[in-house]
Amino acid sequence: MATCGLFKSYRKGTLGIPVLQGIDFSVYEGEFLSIIGQSGSGKSTLLHLLGTLDRPDAGEVCFEGNRIDNLPAASRDLLRNRYFGMVFQFYHLLPELTALENVLTPALIAESMFGYWRNRKQYRRRAEELLELVGLRDRMKHKPRELSGGEMQRAAIARALLAEPKVLLADEPTGNLDRATGEQIMQVLAELNREQKLTIVMVTHDAWIAEQADRVVRLVEGRIQAA
Ligand code: ADP
Ligand code: MG
Repeated sequence: MATCGLFKSYRKGTLGIPVLQGIDFSVYEGEFLSIIGQSGSGKSTLLHLLGTLDRPDAGEVCFEGNRIDNLPAASRDLLRNRYFGMVFQFYHLLPELTALENVLTPALIAESMFGYWRNRKQYRRRAEELLELVGLRDRMKHKPRELSGGEMQRAAIARALLAEPKVLLADEPTGNLDRATGEQIMQVLAELNREQKLTIVMVTHDAWIAEQADRVVRLVEGRIQAA
């Protein structure tokens, strides 16, 4: 996917806060790209635009050769559910659900209750396979409060993969974890990239974490520079 001349500013009263000021970059199919930038540099803003959670003031986001930022909201929702997986710093797991149930939530959202019920066996099998893949075979019945930070992030990664996305967008996925646990999460991501050919765009403020990717670019003053 690619961006072309992305601009985004936020408005606080009469004051415009420019955040992204002409973002141009591409991520190639199967690539693991990281974008490093200081806190407040616009990393989350950029990731939201890539995932069509928000729209740019100017410029374009393209996916598989088609412009996606200007699609109607309902089409963007479909596109996002189908092609993009998202992982965040604070996991956003539902506290009352087990790891397995959390991984299944995208299926409930994407399908009607009836559709989900009809396909529940396949979904459940896929969710179990994903939890195994991220190393949580023995934690499927655990609720988030019974999991460590690293385990919660593994569950969140499995959830992001349920719909078999083409691109994983990760916003500071190790930001709340100690170095050793962060390293394990990076190994999980690198393995998914290598073995499942998953395209990954990760943003982080941590240089060491960024360097685990194939390619690193830098977000400085609203623009992308080669790192
Ligand atoms: P990062 O993820 O790199 O820390 P963000 O993209 O979250 O940066 O934020 C970039 C800048 O935009 C910051 O100065 C932040 O305060 C501002 N900002 C982010 N979201 C909003 C918003 N919804 N309204 C106003 N300002 C915002
Ligand atoms: Mg952020």
